[in-house]
Formats: sequence, C-alpha cells, structure tokens
Amino acid sequence: MTQIPENKVSPRDSKLHGKHFDCVIIGAGMAGLASGIRLGLAGKESIILERHNASGGLNSFYSIDGHKYDVGLHALTNYVPKGTKGSPLTKLLRQLRIPYDALELSPQLQSKIHFPSCQLIFNNDFSYFESQVAEQFPNEIDGFCRLVETIKNYDAFSLNAPSTSTREILKQYFKNPLLESMLLCPTMYYGSSTENDMDFSQFVIMFRSLFLEGFARPLNGVRTIIKALQDKYRSLGGTRKMRCGVAKIICDEQRAQKLLLDDGSEITANKIISTAGYTETLRLCNNDKNQELENNIGKLTFTETITLFKEQPKNLGWEDTIIFFNDSDHFRYEAPSSNLVDPQSGVICLPNNYAYPNEENLEYGILRITALAHTHKWFTLDETSYQEAKQHWYTILQKTALSILPSLNESQAEFASRTIAKDMFTPRTVHKFTGHINGAIYGCPNKIKDGRTHLDNLFIAGTDQGFLGIIGAMLSGISMTNLHCLQSKE
Ligand SMILES: Cc1cc2nc3c(=O)[nH]c(=O)nc-3n(C[C@H](O)[C@H](O)[C@H](O)COP(=O)(O)OP(=O)(O)OC[C@H]3O[C@@H](n4cnc5c(N)ncnc54)[C@H](O)[C@@H]3O)c2cc1C
Repeated sequence: MTQIPENKVSPRDSKLHGKHFDCVIIGAGMAGLASGIRLGLAGKESIILERHNASGGLNSFYSIDGHKYDVGLHALTNYVPKGTKGSPLTKLLRQLRIPYDALELSPQLQSKIHFPSCQLIFNNDFSYFESQVAEQFPNEIDGFCRLVETIKNYDAFSLNAPSTSTREILKQYFKNPLLESMLLCPTMYYGSSTENDMDFSQFVIMFRSLFLEGFARPLNGVRTIIKALQDKYRSLGGTRKMRCGVAKIICDEQRAQKLLLDDGSEITANKIISTAGYTETLRLCNNDKNQELENNIGKLTFTETITLFKEQPKNLGWEDTIIFFNDSDHFRYEAPSSNLVDPQSGVICLPNNYAYPNEENLEYGILRITALAHTHKWFTLDETSYQEAKQHWYTILQKTALSILPSLNESQAEFASRTIAKDMFTPRTVHKFTGHINGAIYGCPNKIKDGRTHLDNLFIAGTDQGFLGIIGAMLSGISMTNLHCLQSKE
C-alpha cells in the first residue's frame, strides 16, 4: 500500500487524483517545458509537475524588496542572428514552433578570458577570436585552426560516443599549456560536470556554443524565455501544475505504475519524462542504493553574488559582458577541498552590456560573480554561521572582481556606497529550489545519453541526460521526447 506523505491533503481533495496522461513530465525547467511543447504539438495529453511556484528550474527569477533578480542566465549561448540556417538555436525554435523574435535576443558587446599573463577577447564574430589567438599565441595559431576544423566536423551529439579526455586531445593541437587552460576555463565553467577535464564531445558542444556561435540576452532576462515556452505549452492545451512535486514513482520490476504526488494524490501515465536528475529520479523509485549511482552524483556547484548598483557599468569603464578569470596560468576546475568558496577562478557577468534595442538598458547596473563552492560544507552550517559565511564570501568575491575589472580608482568601501541591493546564492539555495543533490549545477558526471532508466517507461531529460545550459536543456527535452514518446512504438 502506498503511504500518503504526512501533513498532506487527502487524495480525494485533489482534482488530479486518478487522472491518466499520455505523458507526465517531472520539472518545469527548460527541459520540461520543451518536452511538454513537443508532446502538445503531437497532440499528446501531458502534464508538467513542478514542486516550486515558479517555472525555470535552475534558470529562474525572483524579487526581493521590489528588485528583480535572475537566478541564472548570464548569457543565452548558441546565439546566431535571425535566419541563420542549421544552428542548434534555429533547429530548436523550429522544433518548438516558437518564432525567433519571441526570445527578444540582443547580442553581447564583448567578453574576455582573463589570465594574469594573457587576455583573449571575443565577441559573436568568431574571426575576431581567431585574430586574438593569432596575436597572443603566434606559434599556436595553426594548431588552433586545425582544432577548429575538428570541432566543426565532430559528431558531438552521438548517443553512443565513448568519453574522451579533452586535455589529451588539446595536447595534440598545441604545445603551450596556457592556451589549453584559457580554452578550458570558459568551456568548463559553462558546461562541465567533471573536475579538471571534460569529455571531448561536451567540449565541442561548448566551444561551438560559446565561440563559433555566441552570447545573447533578452532585456527582461530569463523571464522572456520562460514566458515564450509557457505560452506555447499553454496554447497547445498542456497542463502545468505548480507546487505539485512528485513524491514517489510506484513501480514494479519493469514499469512505473503510478506517481504519488506531494499532496497525496495518485496519477498514472503511459510514459514519464523526468528532468529532476538521474539519481534524484531513481530515488523517487526507491532504486538508488548501488555503488555505481553513488559514484555518479555531481559535486560541482557554485555560489553567485548579485549586486545592483546605481550606474550603468559602461559609465564606470566596465564594457565587457562576461569575464572568465583565473589567477594563475594553470586552470584548475575542482570543488574547493577546505574553503567554502574558491575565488581563484570564476565568472563575472555584467548583464547591462548587451546591445539592447533603442539604447534601452536595465534600470540598474548589475554585477554578478560566480565561483566554485564546496560540495558539502554549505549544507552543514547553522543559520547564523550560514549568513555570516555569505557575508564573508560576498566581500571576498567582490574584492576579486574589482581587482579584475578596469580600475575605478576607488576602494571596495567606496564602491559599496554605490550599491542599491545585493543577494547571494549558495549550493544550499540551488538544492532548495531544484532538489539537485549537492546543489550540483551540471548534474551527474556520467551522463545518461540515451535517457533510459531501469524502467521501460521512465526516461531522463535535461542536465543529467547530457546537454547542458539553457539551449542544451531544451534540446535534451526535445530529443528525449522525440525519441522515447513520439518515435517509439512502445
Ligand atoms: C546560477 C546559474 C547560472 C546559469 N547561467 C547559465 C547561462 O548563463 N546560460 C546557460 O545556458 N545556462 C546557464 N545555467 C545552466 C542552466 O540554467 C541549466 O543547465 C538548465 O536550466 C537546466 O535545465 P533542466 O530543465 O535540465 O533542469 P532544472 O532547471 O534543474 O529543472 C528541473 C526542475 O525539476 C523540478 N523538480 C525536481 N524534483 C522534482 C519533483 N520530485 N517533483 C516535481 N518537480 C521537481 C525542479 O524544481 C526544477 O524546476 C546556469 C545555471 C545556474 C544555476
């Protein structure tokens, strides 16, 4: 007999109790919404169940004291101008039947990879990045061009490709380890679930999406993207139920039979697409007690500080959109082993620095600083120590960023006087709002590329399937739904 979670209403009170769907989607993040749209377009009856009160998952938004904050979205990667054929963004929008203009994208101004002895600037014109590499690494430019040809021709989306070390492959193209580090810093920060090295397929996907394509952002941030997805899903008759988590998947050896919801009601479905994470999903089936799964839990997580200040950044001389920084010539990408945060490397984002239409811009300057965080320690702090730690690391990250941004000739205290509001999220926040174990942003290290689980009708999409970031998550939702719900005859 299934147990109703404590303090929940009786199943009889829920309108959902006893309903059957072609497909249930767990999670209203980018992957879940994209999956729902594909099902709606195919005339399937689906429901998206989301434990929280806002869509977007890892990439959402909130307000405090009347100030709006985006959680994610430094940049929508994979940007190409309207009408560009054959790119992931174009294909994705076609699959979702969402017009390009609905995303209201504005391109970045310019971004930077900032190491102490070298800086590489890039924008959405790849030839500019190539010229920067030629200027800074004249002995490596031939190898770089050969690497770019390999990347352009590589089948990065193969579901069966074995994992290959990017560091080993890069050594075949360059001699200078600094260039290797400088390419790994942005690609790992924007899409690696593994420490210090990444699967070459994933590197190819990230290199294309960051450098060969580019960065863009809607003026209103992630809200615009979520709204476009929600509106489309709703227009197709899809149901989205918020504050309605899946507490349990009740299954036999082969199939998921029922879903028990947080409110105690039970529903059934022919198929389930879960975007909650791989281990997280198997835990819902009470099937997570094996060593392979234990070894496949993500440990890479971040903190991010968000500071709203009075001026537009360009008036302070800060004209870059994103800065990927590292404080030595060797880039290490690993969870800090003792400190709560590792400020030696990170990402600085100034969302004001996009070419928004009609010279409009965000009301305030926004400075966001992302850095790697300890996997477990944030979860062990009591509330007072937690708040103190946030304040401590906010100050350190602010100092780090001010030392990298063009000098203001003013102290941190003076810059603080320009501040209107600030916030900071930690792995604990990520866990609270998405349920991802350890608050791991990029999920498990070994991806479930075919999306299959031990159950015939339960599939994984999103971060743990293997395509990362906003565009990646949507592509994952689309491709897993096409493969398992729309093409499959089961
Ligand atoms: C701070 C930050 C900045 C980022 N910046 C960028 C960026 O600039 N560009 C970019 O491309 N990507 C960025 N990303 C990454 C991007 O946000 C993610 O890769 C992508 O959004 C993942 O989408 P998803 O649908 O796979 O998973 P998620 O967003 O994690 O969605 C899963 C959803 O499932 C819900 N859920 C979990 N368990 C249950 C349950 N039992 N029942 C019901 N619902 C459940 C969760 O609440 C969540 O809403 C950023 C991420 C973060 C955290």
